[in-house]
Amino acid sequence: MECAGKGSGTRCLGPARKRCGSCGAVSYCSASHQISHWKVHREECERLERQMKNLDLLNDFPFTFSQESTVQISEKQESRCSFLRKRGIHQVGLWVCECHCGASVTSFGNSRLESDTWNLSNILCPCRGPSSPIAKALCSWKDYYEWRCIPLQSPVSLLLHWPLTVYHAIQLAGLGSLTSEISKLRIHYLGPEKELLQLAVFGELHAVFPGVFVRIELIGPAVPHHRDGDKIDLHSYAHCIEQDCDCRYKNENASCSIGHASSAVTLQLHRGYYHDRFLDISKDSLPHLVIAPNAGVAAYASWLPTIVCLQS
Ligand SMILES: [Zn+2]
Ligand SMILES: [Zn+2]
Ligand SMILES: [Zn+2]
Ligand SMILES: [Zn+2]
Ligand SMILES: [Zn+2]
Repeated sequence: MECAGKGSGTRCLGPARKRCGSCGAVSYCSASHQISHWKVHREECERLERQMKNLDLLNDFPFTFSQESTVQISEKQESRCSFLRKRGIHQVGLWVCECHCGASVTSFGNSRLESDTWNLSNILCPCRGPSSPIAKALCSWKDYYEWRCIPLQSPVSLLLHWPLTVYHAIQLAGLGSLTSEISKLRIHYLGPEKELLQLAVFGELHAVFPGVFVRIELIGPAVPHHRDGDKIDLHSYAHCIEQDCDCRYKNENASCSIGHASSAVTLQLHRGYYHDRFLDISKDSLPHLVIAPNAGVAAYASWLPTIVCLQS
């Protein structure tokens, strides 16, 4: 790690071996650089301290996959296909990539496959805005299902782990309480794969971040050439199967039934590796969070030391 006090006037006295005793997130070459950097570091030190503690919690990530709906599969009571078939969601809608029968990531870009429907009744899926705001931070699928009034046997968590992983990473990074102050939440999402065919599920970010403009850059080699740079505005939630449900009419449902808080979710696709695309993508503003859900769920708030280290 580089000395955080580098460039503050005097030259560094060697490698940065002394860590800040409070947060442990930054290092210094010398006591004098630590002292001179304190006026800058003071503000973020407390927040970093919280964040570093939370890094351990990432191993316990609650929203990575659904206990409730995968337990039967993992116990080999039924195959993935029959699990999906029983629920009427085999090879349809957002579920086409959930088994090996049909599409794979390599067929991304075949627009026929990009769906925005759950193919479930509106009792079983979150196709409209929440009926109440989140009372306390969601910590498990149970919290989530209860808040969204969805029965636990619903399989939606299989797909919602993408947006809820983003939600949870924001909480862990200590940004949860700040989202109401941040007018635009900028996230770099590294290495998207299957979720590239399920982008409509990110509409759920309207529900978990009411009143926030969420902007996600999805960066990875799985983004096909012809989609590089594509911008997708998600105005609504993924739809249910019912033709006469409210979710079929207008965009009103996404701009939130609660408190008239308007929100927006915009995704942009970038082909390539993060270190090659980083400068280009961040030239106007740095992200609040960098997340790589397919790499064993790594999340970093984008403090300068992290960015520096990602670049090198
Ligand atoms: Zn130094
Ligand atoms: Zn610092
Ligand atoms: Zn510190
Ligand atoms: Zn199948
Ligand atoms: Zn609906």
